[in-house]
Amino acid sequence: MFAMQLTDTHCHLDFDAFDADRSQVIERARAVGVQWIIDPGVDLSSSRAAIRLSETHAGVFAAAGVHPNDALSWDNHTLPELRQMATHPRVVAVGEIGLDYYRDRAPKDVQQRIFRQQLDLAAELGLPVIIHCRNATADVLRILAEKRASTLKGVLHSFSGDQAAAEQALALGFWIGITGPVTFQNAADLQLLVSRLPLENLLIETDAPFLTPHPRRGQRNEPAHVHFVAEKIAALKGLPLQVVAEATTANAARLFDWSKTA
Ligand SMILES: [Zn+2]
Repeated sequence: MFAMQLTDTHCHLDFDAFDADRSQVIERARAVGVQWIIDPGVDLSSSRAAIRLSETHAGVFAAAGVHPNDALSWDNHTLPELRQMATHPRVVAVGEIGLDYYRDRAPKDVQQRIFRQQLDLAAELGLPVIIHCRNATADVLRILAEKRASTLKGVLHSFSGDQAAAEQALALGFWIGITGPVTFQNAADLQLLVSRLPLENLLIETDAPFLTPHPRRGQRNEPAHVHFVAEKIAALKGLPLQVVAEATTANAARLFDWSKTA
């Protein structure tokens, strides 16, 4: 019944929210056509757990990185360990990395320093980056622009900026990640933006267990729900769901280049 190939490019499958039923969660995702899932680490142990899942579940890939909310966990051993993890064949990106001035769990200068170090690591290894950006769009885009010479590419995950920021990101060669909030009643600005952005620049994500889309709000999010995001994008663009599913999966395969490992 589902010939569709969906991809959830951002799902925290390793989080303990899935400890009780992780295998069923992955099966439910497959049942609605989710063939590929990327699990980005948020710190060293989460990155390690994501890699373990990628080794034991077909179609699951990992990213290794330290999230800005975990920036204070960074020490002298972190970068060499990340470098080691990032050479694993199932690791398709450096992430989740970035800046978060909303939660503000670490000083801005610390966040920026480890963001830059991880961008440099991605450039060194030729890997794309998965970027978390909250209330920090200007600084993220400024730092990416500075690093552009190193031929970085990646995704601005769960994008929440405006049209101008999106255009800057596209000009820097970045993809725009769309999550559950695009399905919310009060998301007129994001919906307008998505209706205008070219499909070939979009990726779809759940950020599960967070950001549950309508009509499952209030429940734990899971990768099967990425189809609600795809359906909303299809409706906003007046396209068949199949077209959105195929295009966003092709975009993900191009950015994360998993053909070498799949
Ligand atoms: Zn995330």
